[in-house]
Amino acid sequence: MTTRIREFLKHRTDNGPCLVVDLDVVRENYQNFAKVLPDTKVYYAVKANPAPEILKLLAEVGCHFDVASLPETHQVLAAGATPDRISYGNTIKKEREIAEAFRLGVTLFAVDCEAEAEKVARAAPGSRVICRIHCDGSGAEWPLSRKFGCEPAYAADILEHAHKSGLVPYGISFHVGSQQHNVEAWDRALASAAAVFRSCAERGIPLSIVNLGGGFPARYVRKTPKLESYGKAIFKALRKHFGNNLPNTIVEPGRGLVGNAGIIEAEVVLIAKRSPEDEVRWVYLDIGKFHGLAETIGESIRYPIRTTHDRDETSPCIIAGPTCDSVDVLYEKTPYPLPVSLAIGDKVLIEAAGAYTATYSSVGFNGYPPLRQYVI
Ligand SMILES: *Cc1c(COP(=O)(O)O)cnc(C)c1O
Repeated sequence: MTTRIREFLKHRTDNGPCLVVDLDVVRENYQNFAKVLPDTKVYYAVKANPAPEILKLLAEVGCHFDVASLPETHQVLAAGATPDRISYGNTIKKEREIAEAFRLGVTLFAVDCEAEAEKVARAAPGSRVICRIHCDGSGAEWPLSRKFGCEPAYAADILEHAHKSGLVPYGISFHVGSQQHNVEAWDRALASAAAVFRSCAERGIPLSIVNLGGGFPARYVRKTPKLESYGKAIFKALRKHFGNNLPNTIVEPGRGLVGNAGIIEAEVVLIAKRSPEDEVRWVYLDIGKFHGLAETIGESIRYPIRTTHDRDETSPCIIAGPTCDSVDVLYEKTPYPLPVSLAIGDKVLIEAAGAYTATYSSVGFNGYPPLRQYVI
C-alpha cells in the first residue's frame, strides 16, 4: 500500500470495487529491471494492464512493448511509442492482422510453426522473426503450458523455412510460465536456445537475440525471490550455455512491472455460516472471478487480503464473489484466514492486483459493471 493509494482511497466518494494503480511503483519497477538486467531491453507485456496512463509512462521512460493483437498495437502507438519499439509476440495471428501491423510499421513477429512463418512472409515481407520454443512451465503458479512454442529441436527448421521465405531469422523466445518461483527455470530454456543458435549457425543462419520472456513474480501471499536473484541466475545460465558469445537479450515482464502497483478496494457483502456449528465462514465480497479476480481459477494466485481488523484473532473462511454462479468462489480448497471481527460492510484491500485483473473483468455479468480502474 503506497501513501498515494491510501490518500486516494480516503477521498474516494464513489461506490463499488475499484482498482487503483500507482504509476510511481510502475516507474520504480521499470528502473529495477533496467538495473538488475543491464544490457537487456524491457518489452512490457501489454496484456498485463493496458491502461493508457501506464503505456504512456512506459513509452516516456524508453520501454519497449510486447503486443498480442492489433488493438494492443494501436494502444501502444497511441501512447506515443514508435513501431520499432513493438514486438508482435503472439504466435497466433490472422494474416490480415499481420498485414495491418506491418502497415503500421511493426517488423518484429513471433512464430512457432512453419504455417505462421509463411503468413508473416506473405503479409510482412522482409520482417524479423523470432521462433518461440516450448517450456514446460514447472515452478510457475500460472503456467502457459503446451499452447505455445515448438519443440526446440524443430526451431532451426522453422527459422530456415522463414529464411527461405525472405524473412530475417532473428532469434529465439520462450516463456518459463507466469509467476515463476524457481530462478533456475531459465537455465533449461537457455540450454535449448543455445542449441538452436548452434544449429542455425551450422546452416549459415546467424541468430542474434534471445527473448527471455516474462515470469517475473509479483509478491502475493507466498514469498518470492528478489528480482536480483532472477537476474543473477539468468546471467549465469547465459554464460554457461553461450560462453563468451553472449546473444542480445530482451525480457517481456507483465506481472513483474505492474502487479505490485495496484490495489483493489472491495467490500464485504455477506458473512454466512452454513450451520450453527460450522467453523468455516463464507465471506462474500463485491468482487469475484468474473470482475477481475480470474487468476484465482484453480486457486492459482493467492492475493494478500488486508482488513482493518488485521491484528485480531482469525478463523478460516471460504471467500466468494457476489454473482449467481457457483464457479465464483475464490478460495475454498485452502480456506483463507480472516479476522473473526470482520463484519458485513467492511472494506477489504486486495493487494498486488495491478496485473491481469481489470481486463479480465466481464462486461456486465449479473449486471455488475466492469472493474473500475484509477491510475494515479
Ligand atoms: C503474457 C506474456 C508475457 C508476460 O508474462 P508475465 O509472466 O506476466 O511477465 C510475456 N511474453 C509473452 C509472449 C506473453 O504472452
